[in-house]
Amino acid sequence: MDIHEYQAKEVLANFGVAVPDGALAYSPEQASYRARELGGERWVVKAQIHAGGRGKAGGVKVCESDVEIQKASEEMFGKKMITHQTGPEGKGIYRVYVEAAVPIDREIYLGFVLDRTTQRVMIVASAEGGMEIEEISEKRPESIVRAIVEPAVGLREFQCRQIAFKLGVDAGLTQQMVRTLQGCYRAFTELDATMVEINPLVITADNRVIALDAKMTFDDNALFRHPQISELRDKSQEDPRESRAADRGLSYVGLDGNIGCIVNGAGLAMATMDTIKLAGGEPANFLDIGGGATPERVAKAFRLVLSDKSVQAILVNIFAGINRCDWVAEGVVQALREVQVDVPVIVRLAGTNVEEGQKILAQSGLPIIRATTLMEAAERAVGAWQNDLSQGTRMRAVS
Ligand code: ADP
Ligand code: MG
Repeated sequence: MDIHEYQAKEVLANFGVAVPDGALAYSPEQASYRARELGGERWVVKAQIHAGGRGKAGGVKVCESDVEIQKASEEMFGKKMITHQTGPEGKGIYRVYVEAAVPIDREIYLGFVLDRTTQRVMIVASAEGGMEIEEISEKRPESIVRAIVEPAVGLREFQCRQIAFKLGVDAGLTQQMVRTLQGCYRAFTELDATMVEINPLVITADNRVIALDAKMTFDDNALFRHPQISELRDKSQEDPRESRAADRGLSYVGLDGNIGCIVNGAGLAMATMDTIKLAGGEPANFLDIGGGATPERVAKAFRLVLSDKSVQAILVNIFAGINRCDWVAEGVVQALREVQVDVPVIVRLAGTNVEEGQKILAQSGLPIIRATTLMEAAERAVGAWQNDLSQGTRMRAVS
């Protein structure tokens, strides 16, 4: 789960990371009012969306009066902001953050990520702040400083000092760097984050180390133990298909293709997507309906997959280990009777009671396309979709 910049700043501030004074606004009037409340002479109005790259897209504006603030926020509210991180559909701006403008001397990149190779939290930093990390690693890879944290001992002060030294930070600011790095690391581990990124971390003209931007992503599987973090969820920033799935306890990721997938198990779902591509098609989604593929869950999955209008064929791929193919087949039949499905449906069952399952599908009288192997299922799905395209027909029966 992602959160907004202003939320990440509040979280990190609670762990001792210094951030500028700021206030949130839900309308242009409120934005100028909140700037007057904050006081000062220069402010920055920042569009709150779950994506970076706002500066270049006009989502970060320096203002010198409340009138300017009102105007700058009027330009933002209600708009869809497209940055290189949002995808072509963009993300809606419904909140802006008004922040004291900080006199910047230097911009540093600082990130905390999970490194799968070493199975450790890795700190990635660069003296080339302001640029995105992808750009830094392309243009100035030698500027990247990396450090691995041993989980048993945590992030030690000497490591922080080493990082500060490698970044060329003034010795007088080392203590502030240590506090920032340790604060981020504690927030990362204590809150089950998967990413903390501060870009830029700045050194101000008056020698303060301040997080000017902040991004945090949390592990969805650990959210249950952090109610104060789950509360920060903003569904207006999520793919509506994915939030609907999450609300129904299904694990779904929307993609750009047109073959919908209903699969039990994440690994099998990945294999199904690969096989569809191998057969010349493009999957419309990743969907893991979980272990107990009950008729209700299968029906929910059909509704969810069909709510994506680009879906032109559905491939159901179930491996029944603990489950039973006859139950799943009953689920599919019941779902197809309940939900109006007007695209070809291909079902591949394997595992416990597969013969009984096939019999139920065959005897249902429904135009279900059956397949035995995954490759065959993928080929039939791609074939049915192409057929559908060329003939303009829907729902073909194959025995
Ligand atoms: P994004 O990464 O989405 O473009 P940032 O918060 O990093 O947004 O802002 C982009 C740039 O705007 C920063 O690199 C910094 O130069 C400037 N900026 C952001 N916030 C402030 C601030 N409070 N004071 C001064 N400059 C700022
Ligand atoms: Mg940034």
